[in-house]
Amino acid sequence: MIAEVIVDVMASEVDKVFDYILPEDQNITVGDRVCVPFGSRQIDGFVINIKQTSNYNASKLKQITKKKDAQPLLSENIIKLCFFMKQKFFLRLADTIRLFLPPVVRNGKVKEKLVNYVFLNCDDFLISKKAPNQLKALMYLKEKGKTTQTELNKLFGASAVNALIEKQLIKLESTKTNRTPKNKFSVEKKQITLNAQQANAVEVISKSHYQPFLLKGVTGSGKTEVYINCIQNALKQGKTAIMLVPEISLTPQMFARFRNAFGDTVAILHSSLTNGERFDEWNRLHSGEARIAIGARSCIFAPMENVGVIVVDEEHDNSYYSESNPRYHTHEVARYLAYLNNCPLILGSATPSVESYYLAKKGEYRLIQLTERANKKELPNIEIVDMLSEIHLGNTGIFSTRFLSELETCLKNKKQAMIFINRRGFSSFLMCKECGYVPKCEDCDVSLVYHKEDETLKCHYCNRRYRTLPVCPKCKSSSIRYGAVGTQRVVEELKKMFDVPIFRLDNDINKNAYIDVLETFNQTSPAILVGTQMIAKGHDFNNVTLVGIVDADMSLHFSDYKAIERTFQLITQVSGRAGRSESEGKVVLQTYYPKHFVYRCASNYDYGAFFKKELNLREVSHFPPFVNILRVLVLGEDEKKVLTNLEQIYNAVKLLKEEYSSDFVYLHAMKCPKKRLQKNYRYQILIRIYKKNEVEIISKIYAICDKLKTSKVSIFVENDPQNLS
Ligand code: ADP
Ligand code: ZN
Ligand code: ZN
Repeated sequence: MIAEVIVDVMASEVDKVFDYILPEDQNITVGDRVCVPFGSRQIDGFVINIKQTSNYNASKLKQITKKKDAQPLLSENIIKLCFFMKQKFFLRLADTIRLFLPPVVRNGKVKEKLVNYVFLNCDDFLISKKAPNQLKALMYLKEKGKTTQTELNKLFGASAVNALIEKQLIKLESTKTNRTPKNKFSVEKKQITLNAQQANAVEVISKSHYQPFLLKGVTGSGKTEVYINCIQNALKQGKTAIMLVPEISLTPQMFARFRNAFGDTVAILHSSLTNGERFDEWNRLHSGEARIAIGARSCIFAPMENVGVIVVDEEHDNSYYSESNPRYHTHEVARYLAYLNNCPLILGSATPSVESYYLAKKGEYRLIQLTERANKKELPNIEIVDMLSEIHLGNTGIFSTRFLSELETCLKNKKQAMIFINRRGFSSFLMCKECGYVPKCEDCDVSLVYHKEDETLKCHYCNRRYRTLPVCPKCKSSSIRYGAVGTQRVVEELKKMFDVPIFRLDNDINKNAYIDVLETFNQTSPAILVGTQMIAKGHDFNNVTLVGIVDADMSLHFSDYKAIERTFQLITQVSGRAGRSESEGKVVLQTYYPKHFVYRCASNYDYGAFFKKELNLREVSHFPPFVNILRVLVLGEDEKKVLTNLEQIYNAVKLLKEEYSSDFVYLHAMKCPKKRLQKNYRYQILIRIYKKNEVEIISKIYAICDKLKTSKVSIFVENDPQNLS
């Protein structure tokens, strides 16, 4: 018999399936990790298929050396997913397999944790008076039944305990113990009766086979309760569940809610686990002891069989795109996994991505809506404040008079305020302080990015360069503003004005401190929390009545076709933090563009109007969902080789463009905005093609890259990249 093996080597030359002779005596099956001879070395590989004969010369085939683990590490579905990802995202098979096997599982350095328990091994004992500790230890055990050796050593001394073991008066037993991620948080267990909309959602989803659902529910509408109930129904049918959340909203509160509902059946996979915890949580899932996996993006690769439902919460979140190798879109992986398991997929959000909502409109996703907050309260009122008129009135500070007066009232009433600052586009755009003009690319209609090193403005979609502006072309003013205020500056200003505790959360704070800050803020009133997008999501604070959005425009000018969409999402998410319990909430949004449609739509909570307008813009400017953007990244330490390779690929794609001339919107090769990273020179080819023959064209582009790859240059292809740096 012949085994097809993928070798665990990260080189594109060996990215194929190799045939090996299957040793008859080792009981090797599909999914097993094995040791195989490869060149002069022994390396790891994975058996992905077993067949009768090979097309290769039988005398040249080598034999598998041995099987490495008691149980197969990969299931048939995982193997199918790996091939799917290779074909869909232009990845190497070895890379895809590694996604399913975290380093702690693969490298064998972390072991199971064994704890020694001690028991009494006799009915009667006679102990010399000279050994009082031994006697006490035995008395203690007689009363308690069993305890850990560590505990007994601590109480009565290791020498006494060892003596008792030697005399066989007590015996030892090693037991495997799980290292469980601790959760400082507990939330009160509420008895919740689903409202009619929630109950309907749960019923429709739970009786469905394979089907992607878009669950669009306003902030606080109880989407999480819907997820919990759908997962409960899946478990009742003996199935398992996967729930993905953005890393940032994987809050202790969220985890505590799941622990309340499911106890030890939940395993959590997130980036701040210790290696031991990750190892044990993974194994609890692999063995079936835990049946719900909850975690960030990579949790879609949890070792789950017989999946009954997959949830992608906050589906619009950027973190679902992997931007470093291996690059993939979590939605697509989740969708294929749901298809393989013939189960529903729930994509949940208050502000779905334009792409997802478009697919829902086209009927590819099924739309389910929750239109009311669970507490029956109105969504907070969003008031738009025009910052240009503030300047004209002589207020050049960070805060509008309107916001300051609201803040005063809020703090006087012993409530909490959150102040949101968007740092996404930090210092990367220019704006006229007089009229609000921001320079845009004439070809692409996205904001230009300011490059300090060569004093130019650049478009990140077409690489066109513009000179920086000494005066505003619109109003001729020379007061041009670069960039933005940061969180620290805001905190400083507030301290001068208010004598209440002020907390700050941004990327400079580490994960553990982050949880502490949230927790302390939660228990302090009056108080102010200042933060970046970190504070936008998921948090359920009861006492927040005021939300201030200091510089709403910042994400609007991000040089990205999704800038408006992100702005809409952020405003909705941040506003959703206010008024979540008894008191009403209020939002003040400061902008230099009070008339921009995104603010009008967001302040009316009118997703429909936003979507209509935005979709129209995308259509006329040729952006997704009407086109696919492809980026071929060509990287390497030797710039000449990179350029040669780039040119070959570019020429081949150009030929393709001639063949499919009506499908191509755009094709251009250029330096990446980040020209050199980690010693690698970075070049890219940007391609935009209409949605029509895109599957065919993309596969041809993959084939070109596959054919032209060399060992000294890395080629990555991204489909609809989120970031063009
Ligand atoms: P979302 O995920 O849509 O923002 P959550 O699921 O966090 O909303 O729910 C918001 C709050 O409302 C939570 O405190 C939750 O416990 C509560 N809640 C949800 N559904 C109900 C319900 N049917 N009855 C009462 N309270 C509910
Ligand atoms: Zn101007
Ligand atoms: Zn451009």
